[in-house]
Amino acid sequence: MGIRKIINKFSVGKQKNAFYAVVKCSDCGEEVRVRIESSSDFQAEYDKNNPEHCYTIKKEIIGKNCYNLMKISLALTREARLLFADTQDCEFIAFKRETEHAT
Ligand SMILES: [Zn+2]
Repeated sequence: MGIRKIINKFSVGKQKNAFYAVVKCSDCGEEVRVRIESSSDFQAEYDKNNPEHCYTIKKEIIGKNCYNLMKISLALTREARLLFADTQDCEFIAFKRETEHAT
């Protein structure tokens, strides 16, 4: 409980922190962009084998073209730099900070 409180204090809550991930459906090839909010999607992580690993993001995605359920799991550093991505039924394409002029 104490640890979680400390992590929250240092977390990325102050800045505007929206991100997005792009994945490609392994069934139909559709590329799907999914929005990620640091406030709700970042789960604090402690990995003693990989101290850089600070947050985990897990998302389930369904595209428009088919009913394939895609799953991604992203490991991030404290600065929200991507360490690695695990995917299921899709291909990982990108993870980026959302820019202000998103259309
Ligand atoms: Zn698909």
